[in-house]
Amino acid sequence: MTELMEDTPGYAVSSPFDSASPGDCYFRARDGTRFKVLRHVLVDTSPYFVDLLKGVTASTSSELPIFDIDEDARTLHALLAFLYPVHVPDLLNGALILQLADIEEKYCIPESRIALGFSTAMEIHFADKTKPIERAIDLFSLAWRFDSRQACHFISRHTHPVDLTDKTTVKKSVHYSKSIESYIALTELRRQREFSLDGIIEALEPKKHFCPSHSSSDKMFFTFISMMKTAARHALLAPFPICHDAFSFLGIQGTDGIRVVTWCSSCYAGADRTRLTNQLREAISRYPQVVSIVPDEDVWRVW
Ligand SMILES: [Zn+2]
Repeated sequence: MTELMEDTPGYAVSSPFDSASPGDCYFRARDGTRFKVLRHVLVDTSPYFVDLLKGVTASTSSELPIFDIDEDARTLHALLAFLYPVHVPDLLNGALILQLADIEEKYCIPESRIALGFSTAMEIHFADKTKPIERAIDLFSLAWRFDSRQACHFISRHTHPVDLTDKTTVKKSVHYSKSIESYIALTELRRQREFSLDGIIEALEPKKHFCPSHSSSDKMFFTFISMMKTAARHALLAPFPICHDAFSFLGIQGTDGIRVVTWCSSCYAGADRTRLTNQLREAISRYPQVVSIVPDEDVWRVW
């Protein structure tokens, strides 16, 4: 505890934590940003603050005590907002919820507060499906911990591009879900997707549409199948893949005529593009996009 010092410019502190708000002490973030808080609100929410604030006696308003909190201003703001009976929608985003989960034990943040904040933050994503979800694996793992099957399904769509063999990914998944099961669910989804690529390729009838020189030798045929699979794997990374045209979707032939898979002009010559596109759309609708393994319990969330 130190005495009040000059204001530090930087992070804009809003009500009810700014200096004009009622309060009986200050919390100071690592960068010096100060948040005015009411002790009696915090001691009711977390044993951490009972310890921190015990023994502090009332003082005059010009000499409010200051407590240094080892967090950056935004994290400290989020922590206080979650513990205070206030609504701060700007702080309801996935990255900050994960940060609060990181310091949850340290500050004895009630799990229900984080679960509620998480649910609300995910609701924002759910309302705008095109919005990318950063740190999707971590958020998926948190959804798993909070037994939210709906959130697990939704977020798992956003995990396709992530390298699941990265050790850090495994560690973080276990850290946020407090279980290995969430990671297993993701690897199982990845396995199902790889297995189901055959159905995607089949929809394009390669045997029928490859020219004789590209289908007569097994080696050549499978080389091109492998190229199509690579293209399909890439095209299906989107959380909600949309196929307007079979050829451009897989990069076989863009709408501008540029071929990404470089086979000859005889392959697929005269193919019924509309029919193939419809078949591919059908195959994509069956392609695994969400986890099939889900938490044992299912807790109802607002959304
Ligand atoms: Zn050919």
